[in-house]
Amino acid sequence: MHPAKLWKPLHDGTVQCRLCAHTCVIHPGAHGFCGVRHNVEGQLRTCVGRCIAAANLDPIEKKPLYHVLPATTTFSFGTMGCNFSCSFCQNHTLSAPPREGRKVCGQCASGEVLVHEALRSGARSVAYTYNEPTVFFELMEETALCAREHGLLNIMVSNGYQSTETLNALDGLIAACNIDLKAFSDEFYKEYCGASLAPVLRNLKAIVRMGWWLEITTLLIPDANDDARELRDMAQFIRDELGANVPWHISRFHPAYHLTDRPATAPEALERAWSIGKEAGLSFVYIGNLHGHPSEHTACPSCGNIVIRRTGYRAKPTDIPACSTCGTTIPGLWSTP
Ligand code: SF4
Repeated sequence: MHPAKLWKPLHDGTVQCRLCAHTCVIHPGAHGFCGVRHNVEGQLRTCVGRCIAAANLDPIEKKPLYHVLPATTTFSFGTMGCNFSCSFCQNHTLSAPPREGRKVCGQCASGEVLVHEALRSGARSVAYTYNEPTVFFELMEETALCAREHGLLNIMVSNGYQSTETLNALDGLIAACNIDLKAFSDEFYKEYCGASLAPVLRNLKAIVRMGWWLEITTLLIPDANDDARELRDMAQFIRDELGANVPWHISRFHPAYHLTDRPATAPEALERAWSIGKEAGLSFVYIGNLHGHPSEHTACPSCGNIVIRRTGYRAKPTDIPACSTCGTTIPGLWSTP
C-alpha cells in the first residue's frame, strides 16, 4: 500500500477521499467505492501505487485520438481499478478486481522507468489508459512530470469523473485527452455506471477552459443510450458548450461483462447517430469499432477534402495542419511543443 494524495482527515480516524466526484467518506479499515483507496489507521493508502497491470506500445488512433500526432505510437499503461461500475465494461478484467475484493496484481515500475521505456520504444507520447487513470493519480502525476521533461505528450483516457482538485493538479501536465460521455441522462449514469452525469459535464467544460485537446467517445448501446432525442441533446451540448471542432467518436458496443442480453450495435444505428452529430453542426464525427467505415477518415470541414486517411488504426496524414485544397486550418495537436 502506497501513501495516497488528495484526501483529508475528518474525525475519529475517518477520512474523505478528494480524488474523484464520489468524495467517499472512508472509516478506518474500509475502502472507497473503487476498492483502490483504503483507510489504514487514519491514513489514506492506495493499493495500485506503482503496480502496472498492462503496458503496450499502441497506435495513438487506438485511444482514440484522431487529431493528435497521427500515425505515431503512444506508450500506454494502466493499473487495476475504476471509480465507475459499468455493467458493460469492455475492460472489466482490469477495472473490476479491486471493487470486487479480488486480487490486485501487476509489475512494479516508477514513473522514471515508464518514461525510459516510452523513449526507448520510440513513442511520442505517454497514455494513461486501459483502466480509469484517476484511481492511479499518484503514478500518473509522477510519470507525467517526467514525460513532460523529456518532451513526450501526456494523454489521459478517462471517464471524466475527477474532482476539481484533481483536474487542477493535472493542469499543465496533460496535453490531450479522450473523455467518455457515456450518455446524456443521469438515469443512465446511475443505473449502468454507479455514478452521475453532472460532474462529467462540469469537467468537460473545465478541460476546454484549461486548453487541453479534447476528444469525446460515446459507446452506443442498443436500448440504453441510443435514443435520438438524447443523442441530439448530447451533440448540441458538445457544439454549444465545448465547441463544434471537438471530435465525437461514436463507438460500437459488443456484449461484455454483465451486459450480454443484447446484440452488438447495428451499423445503421451508428450511422444514425453519426448523422445526428453532423446535423447538429459538429465538424468531426467518427464511427469507432467498425473498421473500414468511410467515417474513419478526417475530412476538411470547409470543402470535404480528405486530410487524414484511416484504415482501422493505420493513419495517413496528407493535408495537415491545413487543407491543401482550400487552405482551412485543421484543428488538433500536430506536433510536440
Ligand atoms: S477515487 Fe473516488 S471512488 Fe475511489 S475512494 Fe476516492 S472518491 Fe471514492
